[in-house]
Formats: sequence, structure tokens, C-alpha cells
Amino acid sequence: MSSKRRCEDSNNINVYKKTRMDGPSNVKTRVASCDNDNDRIFLEFPNSLVNALNIALDSFMDEKNWMGYIALVPLKIINSNAADGHEGFPFSKAYCCTERYTTQYSFGSIFRKGLSMLIEFILHRTTPENKQERFVLGKLLHYLFDRMDTDAEAMKNMETYMETELTAVITNHLFGKLSTSTLFTIDKHCKGNSRGERNIKTNKPVCPCEKTDCELSGDFGDTSIGNWKVWHGNVDVMVNNEVVVASPDVEAESSSTEKSPVNVKLKSSSLTGNPQIIAQNIVFSFLQKHRHPENDNFLCPCIGVTSKDIVVYLYDSIYDVLLESTIIPLHGMIASPNNNINLVAVLVSWLVVNYKYLCDGVMEEMKTMKADFFQQAEAKLSIYEAQLKAGEVGNACFTVYTRDILKNLHHPSLVELKKRKRLIFMEPSEK
Ligand SMILES: [Zn+2]
Repeated sequence: MSSKRRCEDSNNINVYKKTRMDGPSNVKTRVASCDNDNDRIFLEFPNSLVNALNIALDSFMDEKNWMGYIALVPLKIINSNAADGHEGFPFSKAYCCTERYTTQYSFGSIFRKGLSMLIEFILHRTTPENKQERFVLGKLLHYLFDRMDTDAEAMKNMETYMETELTAVITNHLFGKLSTSTLFTIDKHCKGNSRGERNIKTNKPVCPCEKTDCELSGDFGDTSIGNWKVWHGNVDVMVNNEVVVASPDVEAESSSTEKSPVNVKLKSSSLTGNPQIIAQNIVFSFLQKHRHPENDNFLCPCIGVTSKDIVVYLYDSIYDVLLESTIIPLHGMIASPNNNINLVAVLVSWLVVNYKYLCDGVMEEMKTMKADFFQQAEAKLSIYEAQLKAGEVGNACFTVYTRDILKNLHHPSLVELKKRKRLIFMEPSEK
């Protein structure tokens, strides 16, 4: 039905034609051949999956499509504790009140590079000339062809996991598998909450999913980012040092730890305008700008996850633009033939974890829709710009006052006492 509909829908045809015209200018392609590409997936990728991909792609560019449209909405920060005069807040206590701009953009509008690459492959079986880009495309095709059914099996009963297990399972079976490196770091402080077991033979951490003998391709470690004078703390998971994955703090939403449907609903709704995820996203974007000034753009993503859905936030620390995606169901919608993982969620994950290769950065017209973070954090913006770090970021909450404030705190008679104190070691003749 969907293919037929596409042929009849002139809007869709225009979108595809336009994409084809725009696409190759960004991604130079060549016809896939086994000898050159050294990877049979480009030749053997089945047509059944091509058709499913074709349908799923509508969600990224066609707001009229029947199965759900993924939009990006710019956010403006109204109030926050990003530059509190007294102390820097940990992410768990980050406060950030936002309002939404009335304009929204299609998710595909900032991932034209990635979509172009995929559409050219679907259309002509061509692959990017650039080796890294071809590798990135191969990651998606391999996941869909070789792995998805097994990984979908592991992500079947997501509501049974505690939040730390949840981020580990979804990263191990989705984000990590689609990234150029399968390595990721889980917050070591979460170890006690998840199983934290290791395979005796390989010494690799055991994946908390239901599959037997499943190991994590990542490990536990230090995931702290920021600076204790401003927003800082441990993110749940860091994928390949490039993308932050965060699950909302359930305790903040409900005191009960029981996994009831009500709780699940609360968790999913808490993905929208989530202050902790926004704070992590902003800090990470500034950190990336500082660590990798060579990057093409600094629109950096942070993925929020619950047992049912994912959401993507993107912050650009050059243009001060903050975007929030539509909530994307992890299951249902367009599922592959043998499992019910949402193919749209897989594509979103692939685009986001590989944003370095697949994202074009903010569009020109987005640049006017400021998040107002620069204004909000003005007093401490220099810390966000130049003093953030990754790893060994203390969780200290004590306060160091600036020199000016210190002067005000002195009692006038203390100055006199200080003068008196200097006399202690003076020779009698100097007094
Ligand atoms: Zn597993």
C-alpha cells in the first residue's frame, strides 16, 4: 500500500527528486562492486529490506506521511541554574525551563548527508566514495541484515529492566552496534544497580538482557563531564566518546520503583523538555567544541531513552540553537518482517550516533531561533567555553567565592586584626 501511495503522491516524488539532485553534491558515490568495496553487504542487501527502508524514510522528510513524522522543534530556555552564582549543579539537580518555538523542521533537514547516502544506495546501489562514509553505511546495512532480529530479541521486554540496565541493553543492542566503534562506557556508579557481572572466561561484563551468554561490547568507567563550578556529573552512557545516552531520573517522576504501566507512561512523557538531558546535551556540545575544534559543526546530540521510546536533543554551542525531536517509539510503527523493532528508530539511531559523518549542522534559518543559553549562562559562559573536561570531574558542591565577594564578606575590624597579626613576627624595631 505504501509503495503504491508513494507513486501516486506527487509531493513525495518531488521530495525524492529534490533529494537526488541535492544529495550527490554532498556525498560522492560509486556503483557498489564486491572487489572494490571489499564488503559483500553492498551487493547482497536484500530487496525486502530496501522496500522497508524506503517506507521508513518518509518519516524523515514528509510531514503528511501516514505512519508518523519525526520533527525537530527549536527550544528557548526561559530560566535555569546553568550559571548559579553560588554553586555548580550536578545534572541530577539541573533546572532548565524551556518553551517551544512554533516552527518545526523535519528530522531529515539536518541529516541530508546521511539520507542522501541511503537514498542513493536504495536507488542505484551506489556507495560513498569516501571510505569512512562507506563504512558508516555498511554499519547500518549489516545491522539490518545480520543482526537486527537477534538484537530485537534482546530488546523485547524492555519494561522489565531498571533504568541503568535499560541504557546498557539499548546501547549494547542498538546504538553501539550502529556506531563506527562498538565501544561505550557505562557510568561506573551504576554498577551496583545493574548486574555488574563478568564472564569468567573473557572477563567482559555481562549484558543485562535476557539472552544467555550475551556480553557488553562496552564497559563500566568514568563518564563524568563538565566542571563543578557549572553543570556537571556522570552521564549514563557515552557511546564511542561521541554521543551521550541518558534515561530520565525515575525517582524525580515517581517515588515508586514498581514497574507499573503508569510509571512507564510517566517515564515516556518525561522525555519532553527534560532538564537533565538538556543540561547534559549543552555541556557535551561545549566540551566537543573545546576538544575537537576541527569538527565541521558542533550540533551535538544526546539521546534520551525509556523502555518504550527514544528522543533526540541536539545543541549547537556556536549558534546557540537547541532542538528537540518528536518522541520515537522503539517498537511498532515500521517493524522488520521478523521482529517488532521500529525501523524508524533504527534509522534515527544510525543518523545520530554517526552525526559526525551524517549531520549537516543547523540550517541557516534555524540560526535565528536562539536557545538563549548564552544569555542565561552569561556570568559563567567562559567556564562552559574553556574549562569543561571529560573524566575526573568532581561532584564537589562546596563553594569558592570570587575575590570581590570575599572582600564583602570581611568584617571591617578583621582588616585591622590582619594588620595586628603581621606584627607577630616583626622585630621590635620594625613595629
Ligand atoms: Zn544483551
